Amino acid sequence: MNRRFLVAIVIILACSLSLGLTLIAGYYRELDDNRNSLAKLMAFRHVINAANSITAERGPTNSVLGEEPLAESPSRQRLSQFRATTDLALARTASIEPLAEAVHDLQRSLALARQKVDALARLPFAARSNADIERVVETMFGVFDATQPLIDKAMTELIADAPELIGRALVARMLSELREHAGRLGSHLVIPIAHGEPISTERRAAFEQTRGRVIALWQLARQQTGTSSDERLAAAHKAVVARFFGDGMSLLERTLAAGNTGRFGLSTAEFTNAIVPHFGPLEQLRDVFLDVTITRLRAQDAAARGWLTAVTVATALVLVLEFLLLVASQRLLFRPLLAARDRIVALADGKVDEPITSLGMKGEMLGLFQALDTLRRRLIDRNALDRERATFAAQLKRQADTDGLTGVLNRGALERLAARLTERGSGPARIGLILLDIDRFKAINDSFGHAAGDDVLKQAATRLRAALRQDDVIARFGGEEFAILLLGQDIEPPLEIAERLRRTLQSPRFELDTGQTLEVTASFGAALIENEADAWPRLVAAADRALYLAKDAGRNRVVVDGDTA
Ligand code: GH3
Ligand code: MG
Ligand code: MG
Repeated sequence: MNRRFLVAIVIILACSLSLGLTLIAGYYRELDDNRNSLAKLMAFRHVINAANSITAERGPTNSVLGEEPLAESPSRQRLSQFRATTDLALARTASIEPLAEAVHDLQRSLALARQKVDALARLPFAARSNADIERVVETMFGVFDATQPLIDKAMTELIADAPELIGRALVARMLSELREHAGRLGSHLVIPIAHGEPISTERRAAFEQTRGRVIALWQLARQQTGTSSDERLAAAHKAVVARFFGDGMSLLERTLAAGNTGRFGLSTAEFTNAIVPHFGPLEQLRDVFLDVTITRLRAQDAAARGWLTAVTVATALVLVLEFLLLVASQRLLFRPLLAARDRIVALADGKVDEPITSLGMKGEMLGLFQALDTLRRRLIDRNALDRERATFAAQLKRQADTDGLTGVLNRGALERLAARLTERGSGPARIGLILLDIDRFKAINDSFGHAAGDDVLKQAATRLRAALRQDDVIARFGGEEFAILLLGQDIEPPLEIAERLRRTLQSPRFELDTGQTLEVTASFGAALIENEADAWPRLVAAADRALYLAKDAGRNRVVVDGDTA
C-alpha cells in the first residue's frame, strides 16, 4: 500500500510538473512573442519617423530655394538641423538588420536629391527657373516615395510577428502619408510664392488632387483616432482637427486665393514658417497613435510577465505542497499505521509491558493509539485476572489434595494417584504400600489433650517424610493412620523401609509445646504386588491385613503381608 501510494504521489508530482511547465512555456512564449512584436513595432516606428523626417526636411528646403544663396541664413541653418535629424533617424533604422539594405538605397536617393537641392540653392535666386525648382521639389517628393519599400519591409516584418497589429500599422502608415501630403500642399504653393506669380491651372489641379488625397486619408484615419478612449490620442486628434484642418487649411486656402493674382504679400520663408507649425499636430497624432500601440503591447508584456510569475510560483507551490503532503502522509499516516500494526501483533503475542504513547498525534491516529492503549490495559487486567484465577485454582487443587493438619497428601489424592498409576498397566512394574497406625493414640489424646494429639500427628508426618525417599509418597490415610506408596524402580524391601520408619517414630521421644516428652510408636502393615489393573484395592487390603496382624501381635512392629511380599 505504501508503495502504491508512493507511485501515486510520483504520478501526481509528474502531472503537476508537466502541467506547470506547459503553462510556464506557454506564457514564456507569449512573453517572447510580445517582446519580438515590440521590437518590430519600434523598428516600424523608427522607419515611419525617418520617412516623416524626410517630409519635414522639405519645409526648410523650400525656404532655402525661395531665397538668395546666403551662407548663414536662418532657413539654411534650419535645413541643416532638419537634415541632421533625418540622418540620425535613418542611421537608427539602418542598424535594424532586415531593413539595412532598403535604408542604404534610401540614403543614396536622399543624398542625390540633396545634391540637386544644394546645386540649385547655390545659384542666385533670379537664375533659378520655375522648372528647375519644380524638378528639385519633385525629386524630394520622390525621396519620400522611395521610403515606401522600406516602410513595406518594416510592416511585413511586424505583421509576420504580430498579425493582430496590421490595422494599427496601416493607420500609422496613413497618418505618415497624411503628413507627407499635407506638406506637399505647402510645397505646391511655394514656387508661385517665390516668384510672386499667379498659380497656374495645372498647379491648382495638383493642389486639389493632393488635398483630395489628404481628405481621403483623414476620412480613414480619423475613425481610428477620433473614437479612441485614450485621452492623449483624443487630444492629439482634436489638435489635428483644429490646427491643421482648421487654421492650417484656411491659411492654405487664403494663399491659394491670393494665387489668383500672384500678390501673396509674404516671402517663401515667411510662408514656410507660417505653415510648418500646422503640420506639427499631424506628426504628434502619428506619434501618439504609435505610443498608444506600444503602451498596449507593454501592458500585454507586463500581463504575460505577471502570469508567468504567477504560474511559476503556483507550480512551485503545488510541487512543494505535494512534497509536504508526501512527507506528512509518510510521517502522520504510514509510519503510525505500521507502528500500530506492530503493536497489535505484539499485543496478540502477549507483549503488554511497553506503554503505548500517542504523544503528538491528532485526530483518527490519536484515537487509534488511544484504543490500542485501552486494549493493552485491558489485556494487562485480564492477564492479572487469569494469573489470580490460576493461583486460586492451584491453591484449591493443593487444598483438595492436601491434608490440612499434617500437610501431606490426603487419602483422596493418594487414591487418585494410585488409580492413575495402576491404570492399564502404566506406572512402575510393581507397587508397594505401607500402612501404619499410631499405637494407643486415644490415650495420647486423653493424657495430653486433643491439641497435643494434633501436634503429635504433625511431628509424626514430618519425621516419616524425612525418612522417605523422594519417589515415595506419603499420605494421611485416616485419623492417626498414614500410608506410604512405594514407587521407586529399585524398590527397597518394604520390610526395611517400614522398620526404618518405625524406629524413626519411636526414637527420639516426641516433645510437646509444654516441654513434656512422650514415646510414640506405631504398628506397620506392608505389602508389595505386581502393578495390574485391580492392583490398588488388593494392595490396600493386603497392607491392612498385615497392619491388623501387627496390632494383634502386640503393636510397635512391622508385618509384611505374606501373600504379596
Ligand atoms: P490402637 O493401638 O488399637 O490403635 O489404639 P488407639 O487408641 O490408637 O485406637 P482407636 O482407633 O481406638 O483410637 C483412635 C483415636 O484417635 C480416636 C480418635 O479420637 C483419635 N483421633 C482420630 N483422629 C484424630 C485427630 O485428628 N486428632 C486427635 N487429636 N485425635 C484423633
Ligand atoms: Mg486407628
Ligand atoms: Mg491407633
